[in-house]
Amino acid sequence: MAESPSCIFCRIARGEIPAKMVVNGKDIVAFRDLNPQAPTHILVIPKKHVASLDDASDAELLGRMLSLAAAIARQEGIAKSGYRTVINTGKDGGQSVDHLHIHLLGGRGMTWPPG
Ligand code: 5GP
Ligand code: ZN
Repeated sequence: MAESPSCIFCRIARGEIPAKMVVNGKDIVAFRDLNPQAPTHILVIPKKHVASLDDASDAELLGRMLSLAAAIARQEGIAKSGYRTVINTGKDGGQSVDHLHIHLLGGRGMTWPPG
């Protein structure tokens, strides 16, 4: 899918909306969540607009997003203590921004099951 002019994460990827960038790569961007739910809360997104995991067809890109999340966790110093990666999909999944993103959460203990 092409870039979406009004999509908030497309706008962050294009640099039109400020965000605390962590990684600005060729086709993947990582930035800090505006409303962090843990001491480390980073979002990893593809630069191109993909609405959700249900719309994702590029397995290679998905794999690199997940690998980047793991690399960022090491960089943030939370890899040893542990962390959580989450992809919310659709209404029941609790997705509120319709641009695929991996949440990287760490720096505190997580509970299970999620709410
Ligand atoms: P979702 O609920 O779709 O899985 O997650 C969307 C996430 O995006 C939420 O954690 C929310 O705080 C974050 N978010 C929404 N708008 C912005 C924004 O403009 N900037 C940043 N950095 N994060 C945002
Ligand atoms: Zn988008």
